[in-house]
Amino acid sequence: MKDTYIYFFEDKLYINLTNRCCNDCTFCIRNNMDGIDNNNLWLSREGTVKEIEDLIDAQTRDYSQAVFCGYGESMYRLDDMLEIARHLHSLGKKTRLDTNGLGDLINGFETAPLLKGNIDCVSVSLNQANAEKYDEVSRPIYGKAAYKAMLDFAAACVRQGLDVIMTVVDVIPQEDIEACRKICEGLGARFRVRSYIK
Ligand code: SF4
Repeated sequence: MKDTYIYFFEDKLYINLTNRCCNDCTFCIRNNMDGIDNNNLWLSREGTVKEIEDLIDAQTRDYSQAVFCGYGESMYRLDDMLEIARHLHSLGKKTRLDTNGLGDLINGFETAPLLKGNIDCVSVSLNQANAEKYDEVSRPIYGKAAYKAMLDFAAACVRQGLDVIMTVVDVIPQEDIEACRKICEGLGARFRVRSYIK
């Protein structure tokens, strides 16, 4: 089967850069499905920048935004993602990154300054209201260090002037959702509750 490097969902173009991820979230769609809308998002190999840009250039369908979000964490391919984002900007498209927020741990340096000017909007998975609960739901390979790193990343993106959204999935208790809302507001980000995809 052919690998799916880009796909459409609603009015957005999505880019599936990798299947690598440093979390193992209990609610991850990958636990239940192989993809979205008949697009199998498991990759036999990661697409090159040229392959993905060629696919983008071949699109005739209009879209409101291009989103780096597939079956893995795009920050594993930071340089490639930025190159593709610059290409999308050259086509007049807005860019968004949906991320677990652990890109600084993955890459070993502060990444938010590199996103500025290339990624217009960053959606960070906040997931829970403290490190212990986050660890239970996200099961990061980085252990307890992950939660603070995720919050630091979101705060750095806000400081860079990016449009930052922080999300939770509606599988957590309402009191935790409200606690997350306060954390998010304290960081100066927008808050969004996502529905669990069965
Ligand atoms: S961070 Fe995203 S891709 Fe990774 S396990 Fe969690 S939900 Fe799945």
